[in-house]
Amino acid sequence: MKQMDIKKEEWIEISEKYLMTTYKRFPVVMERGLGVHLWDSDGRSYLDLVGGIAVCALGHSHPRVVAAIKEQVENLTHISNYYHIEPQILLGALLVENTPLDKVFFCNSGAEANEAAIKLARRYASENMQGKNGIITMRNSFHGRTLATVTATGQENLQVGYAPLPTGFSYVPFNDLPALEAAITEETCAALVEPIQGEAGIVVPDPGYLQGIRRICDERGILMIADEIQSGMGRTGMLFACEHEDVVPDLMTVAKALGNGFPIGALLAKEHIAASFVPGSHGSTFGGNPLACAAGLAALQTILEEGVIDNSREVGDYFLTRLEELKKKHPAILTVRGKGLMIGVAMDAPCAPLVLKCMEKGLLINCTNTTILRFVPPLILTKIDVDKAIQILDEALGET
Ligand SMILES: *Cc1c(COP(=O)(O)O)cnc(C)c1O
Repeated sequence: MKQMDIKKEEWIEISEKYLMTTYKRFPVVMERGLGVHLWDSDGRSYLDLVGGIAVCALGHSHPRVVAAIKEQVENLTHISNYYHIEPQILLGALLVENTPLDKVFFCNSGAEANEAAIKLARRYASENMQGKNGIITMRNSFHGRTLATVTATGQENLQVGYAPLPTGFSYVPFNDLPALEAAITEETCAALVEPIQGEAGIVVPDPGYLQGIRRICDERGILMIADEIQSGMGRTGMLFACEHEDVVPDLMTVAKALGNGFPIGALLAKEHIAASFVPGSHGSTFGGNPLACAAGLAALQTILEEGVIDNSREVGDYFLTRLEELKKKHPAILTVRGKGLMIGVAMDAPCAPLVLKCMEKGLLINCTNTTILRFVPPLILTKIDVDKAIQILDEALGET
């Protein structure tokens, strides 16, 4: 194929011919990214407030991450976990030193991190909690697409056609401590929660909710697992969202922004729980691969050293203020909520047409749970970028 001669429409045709239709894609072919901008095959530029869905925290092609990947790929691309490698050790140490947890296991995605958390919680419980195995998760949650994590996900529509599903999962409403308390049985070993629900539409729980879960888990002797896959890595104005309430979970999962776009996930756990994984109990061929860890190390160092978390908080607050202004002008906006640069705007109707209109005007935004605009942009976003986004949203809202 002489790729230079292929037009956008042909790319889309070929795509539809060969790729499974697991995604409803926009009719564009994206070619290049830099910072908070993307360019398509027609040379059109976009301000990207999707960021690969909370992945590209440092924007596209961040120089420190690019340099780290280039250096590593020439040195050592992959090696089995039978051997020690510096990038994995360095990333593991930096992650652990910046969380209240003690040990880390590396994998390749969010779903795999939650899968590992479910396995570790059950394995620990099998040895230390009389074999309890029940896991309580929240309705409207999202934890991944593997059989176990889609079962943990509290959305029945995502489970259709996949029976038999793994057993041992039960669901309670998010932000409802009495319901959680009531759902704990003799069989329960853990509760799994997103500190802020992402896919559900950036649902921020009441203050004290995470502390409440921590207290209930302690009182009832079950493990607290925090899914920080979307909310972590500085997204909410803290490195991890649990820090807003000074809550230390027993297990915590990270992925999305960890490699700034290079696939990597991680499970962190307290020492005595991590001890239930011994050689052979769990593993991954690619997990913690040199390239992924070099990317992750550069990304985490940059987030910690270059004021990225403060920027997320400051620009996030500014964005929320400007969205509140927009709400006064456009009755189609029902509520505005979020923390840092994890922001949701509830609309009075499905937001797909608005997303398309914004795209035509050079702004990429995401719609989740049908009527919620979700903003999870690069954390290097500036107030000027926010002003530009607000201006386009304002125009687009006026036209729909
Ligand atoms: C995206 C996401 C996942 C799944 O991550 P994948 O890398 O797509 O497997 C799990 N939990 C949360 C909260 C997420 O946002």
